[in-house]
Amino acid sequence: MSNSHGFLADVTSMFNDAAEILALEEGLAEKIAVCNTTLTTRFGVRLRGKMYTFEGWRSVHSNHPSPAKGGIRFAPYANHEEVEALAALMSYKCALMDLPFGGSKGALKVDPTEWAPHEMERITRRFAQELARHEFLSPSQNVPAPDVGTNETTMIWIADEYRRMKSHDINASACVTGKPLAMGGIEGRIEATGRGVQYAIEAFFQTPEDVAKIGLDESLEGRTVVVQGLGNVGYHAAKFLSEDSGCKIIAVVERDGSIRNPDGLDIEALRKHMTDTGGISGFEGGEFDSGSALSDACDILIPAALESAIHDGNAHEIKAKLIVEAANGPVTYAANTILRERGVVIIPDLYANAGGVTVSYFEWVKNLTHIPFGLMERRRDEQGSRMLARQIENMTGCHFPAESAEPFLSGAREIDLVRSGLDEKMRSAYGEMSRLWNSSDDIPDLRTAAYIIAVKRIAEIYRALGIG
Ligand code: GLU
Repeated sequence: MSNSHGFLADVTSMFNDAAEILALEEGLAEKIAVCNTTLTTRFGVRLRGKMYTFEGWRSVHSNHPSPAKGGIRFAPYANHEEVEALAALMSYKCALMDLPFGGSKGALKVDPTEWAPHEMERITRRFAQELARHEFLSPSQNVPAPDVGTNETTMIWIADEYRRMKSHDINASACVTGKPLAMGGIEGRIEATGRGVQYAIEAFFQTPEDVAKIGLDESLEGRTVVVQGLGNVGYHAAKFLSEDSGCKIIAVVERDGSIRNPDGLDIEALRKHMTDTGGISGFEGGEFDSGSALSDACDILIPAALESAIHDGNAHEIKAKLIVEAANGPVTYAANTILRERGVVIIPDLYANAGGVTVSYFEWVKNLTHIPFGLMERRRDEQGSRMLARQIENMTGCHFPAESAEPFLSGAREIDLVRSGLDEKMRSAYGEMSRLWNSSDDIPDLRTAAYIIAVKRIAEIYRALGIG
């Protein structure tokens, strides 16, 4: 993006606000803030009868603890400053969520829509070779995942290339996460970031003192939501909020314009229309116009596209009471200040979109243990519950109602455990952030609270190791 320098500076400013409150000893704040290493690679791929040179990066912001974790994006605007900013965000995100990872991010300067799938496969495999050769890809050191412009298929190619190069590595499948289920993936990874956004919003609405700050009550039912970007994250967040949480998605902003429906859009139908036509215009379930609905009146605004979508030029126009950063870095530092002064609450990216990396953690652990979650205990738990149910029925002479019997009696499947683990992580991190935010007037917002928790954890590791 054109504003990449601004993005890196913004992440550093957000970090500095927290470091100042923490009053870190001299030198340590600088050590934490900078990116440890950035690999730049330029490699050739022979395609369409000629040689094309591609440029890519993988940046490790921190590698205590290891491995460093974070997505790989494929985008024509990618550049190393953006990658470094995103890698830093990954460090803070993993620390906030208390995951045993450092922070990393990668990008390849390519427009995936310009190449056929078999060409993208060759380009991706060459990129994976470069990453592995330079030790920027491995289950113990650096574990990529999907991000903008990449998906499950990209991850299969990377994992397969690594496995061919390191055929003695028994843990090879743990070198990337976000793989398809049949290739060592985990149930619930694709929707994990969107599910995490839903859990984040629910956690906010279950915290009376926080909801009171935006003048609403604790019910989510009928809350109006505007979503910017109906990609993997935006789509799943919109789907779960409308189908499970009772919210109304009154507008979706996409590349070609905005679609509005005050009674709530049918997200499943809109997504299908987008897949079929490549855009949202022409969708019959709402009113289309080529402008942006970002500043429409609503309760919750979810920017789920790219960084710097809300900046000092449009922050004054935002009418939402709550902004939930499903994308990485969608609100600039300047916009953050303007919005805070206007009383808008922001649930920050390092927390709001942490569902993806949290479920990546479960996938990585599953790969290292070589056994699916719940395999050993499922039937045993089921047997225990059935015995208990029989005893209750014998003692009371009543039967378990059929509709509640099944969920109570059946043992947990992998997807149940993934959801439970994600819910637990999202709730406990929200509780920590909120308590800190409410504990002192020196902590102006949830973002600063999140950074303080993250930076404190990283500083403790560096102090213990004697680095810094
Ligand atoms: N790309 C996602 C993010 O920005 C997921 C990273 C991961 O799972 O490692 O958080």
